[in-house]
Order: sequence, then structure tokens, then C-alpha cells
Amino acid sequence: MDEITPIPDPEEPINTRFKTLRELIDFVTGVVPGEHPQLEENSSITDRLPYPFLGIVGQKEMKLSLLLGLINPAIGGILLIGPRGTGKTTAVRSLLDLLPSVERSTCFYGCLNEDIETIGMDAVCPECARKFGMGEALTSMDKVRLVELPLNAGIDDVVGGREEEPGLDRYKIKKGILNQADKNILYIDEVNLLSQQIIDVILDASAQGFYNIRRGFHSASHNSRFVLIGSMNPEEGFLRPQILDRFGLRVLVKGLTNPQERLLAYQQVQAYNRNPRLFINQMLPQTNQVRSEIEKAQKMLKETNISADVAKKGISIIRSLQIDSLRAEITWFEAARALAASDDRTEVTMDDLNVVASMALRMRRSKFMDDYFSHQDLEEKELKNSLA
Ligand SMILES: [Zn+2]
Repeated sequence: MDEITPIPDPEEPINTRFKTLRELIDFVTGVVPGEHPQLEENSSITDRLPYPFLGIVGQKEMKLSLLLGLINPAIGGILLIGPRGTGKTTAVRSLLDLLPSVERSTCFYGCLNEDIETIGMDAVCPECARKFGMGEALTSMDKVRLVELPLNAGIDDVVGGREEEPGLDRYKIKKGILNQADKNILYIDEVNLLSQQIIDVILDASAQGFYNIRRGFHSASHNSRFVLIGSMNPEEGFLRPQILDRFGLRVLVKGLTNPQERLLAYQQVQAYNRNPRLFINQMLPQTNQVRSEIEKAQKMLKETNISADVAKKGISIIRSLQIDSLRAEITWFEAARALAASDDRTEVTMDDLNVVASMALRMRRSKFMDDYFSHQDLEEKELKNSLA
């Protein structure tokens, strides 16, 4: 494939030839599954003006997985695995311009109308009860945020805790990063270097959608519904298989091998470094289109189903691969639903399953469990023989 994503001409009218997000995904990712430009991971630049998603050359699987994660958080998190300099962090930060809106409580305690509707006035704080009585909204639409876990975060930063109020003989409860990540994206770079305790807490909170915190006499429950994105360089240490299994999608990010792609990647990065604002603006029409297509696909997702026939075929493939974890089909089917929704369809096809199969199913088999079960089978047989 020689076709390469061109840098859009700012003079050109807004591109309208993409009818669905999937067509756009194919367009921006159809450059040969490959890798990433050797982007400078210069946080001082990317913090202000992130490199645009549409400027990333190649890396089809990484880009697809990130878009599917935005459309359907039920995918259960994404782990990007690859060496340094392959643009994992750049890609995650580039999502900033694509993030859709979400309905969010405007209250510190996270009170919602639905709390009152299902439990009653006691379920919300006095201020929100007053607002509700006056017919005022408890929520507002807000852009999804990208929350990054700092490398040196301690357990109190993650879950929150008591904080002494200076000059006063009392404490206030400080919210943790997990709660800030609620309804947002939580990005953990070098997730394999986190302490056991912190990774367990984050994965539990992510799976349950809430977490409990107890400090002395204080205890509280906070919401923590977020899309978890982790990245790791396997040269710097491995994740335990149990932890690998808890990331919905596992994406292998390698360096670009196609010389033409590498050249384009180099040129794009040069253009971005020369004038980040101009480079971003050149892609703005398409960036805006992707964002609105993501929102459209999110709505479509509610009506997108997988038929019993297609699901049965998927499950028999999982069985033939000897994958035990039930997370395999949850992630696989949810990713396929997101892909079908991005293509404006309400039915998942085998083709959808095929496209997302590798990222959902790789690294699910445990050699330890294989050995364990075959050893147990042997023992069962010996037992039966000796009892016969
Ligand atoms: Zn409230």
C-alpha cells in the first residue's frame, strides 16, 4: 500500500467524503499497519498543544483501539505495549482534541438527579436537595478529561484521604486521582513500574466503577468509572499475567518499518515542531469530524447488538484457542460492537470480530494454567486407574 495520509490543505473546504467514523478510521489508519513516527515525547510541548491524532502515521491497531475505547468504555481498558519512542504517550495525549462530552454532576459529592429519583432526597447533599427543589440542574455537559497518573503517585494521591486544614483543628476529605478520573480517561504511563498495591487498587476501582476509602473514623464511597489506558515498555519489566488479563485490549506498538512512512512521520513531526498551532489547525476540520463521529457512534452503540449466531462462533473460537478468562469474550464482543456502531450498523458481523480479534485475544493464554490443567488431568487419570 503506497497511499499515505496527506497533510490536509487548510484552504480546502471541510472534508465531507467520510460517511461514517469507520471510513475515517480506515482513512487515517489505512497506511499499512505499522508504527509510529519517532515522535519526540517532549511533555512541555505536548502539555500545551498535543500532537494531533490525525497526524500520527501508521499505527493502525493503536489508533483503532483508542477510538474504540472512547466509543465504548465497556471494552475494559487498553494496554499499549512497546519500546520507547514509538509514540504511545503522544497518541494517548492526542486524544485530547477528540474527547466527547459527558453529563457530569456539578457537586463535590457527585449528586445526581437519578439518585433522587431512585433513592429519594436523602441520597443527595442538602445543597443539591435545595437545587432540585428549585428545579435547578444538578449536572451539566462537560468535556471528558484526560487524567494522567503521575509516576511518583502514592496511595493517598490515588484514593484521596484526610487533609489537615491549616490553622484549624479539623480535616477535610481530599479527592483522589481515581475520583478525578470518574467519567474521564485515566492514563498510566509505565504501568509496569507501579507498586503492586497501587495497581491493584486502580484495577479494582476500574472494574467496579467505585471504590471505598476508610481513614480513621471517616469512610466514603466514590465513583470511579473511567477508561483506563496503560502503556509499558516490556524491556523495563513485565506485568503479571493476572494484570495483563485485566486490560481489555492489548496492543503491540512497534517502530515504523516502511521507509516511506518513516519519511512522512519525520516530515509531520518537523512541521509540528516548526509551528504546532498551524499544524493542528490544518487538521482541525477532520479532527472535529472525528469527534462528532465518536459522539454519533456512542449513541448508535446503545442499539448495536451481537446476534446469538455470531456470538456462538466467537465463543467457539475462544474455546479452540484454549482461553479460559471470561474477559476474552466480553472485551472482544464489546470492541466489535463499538466497531459496528462506528460504521452506523446495529448488527455485529464476523468481519467486525475479525478486525478486533488480535487486540482482544492476544496474551490471554496462561502457560502456567495450561501446564497446571494438563498436570491435573494426568493426576485425575492416575487416581481413577488406581481406584479401578
Ligand atoms: Zn450535592
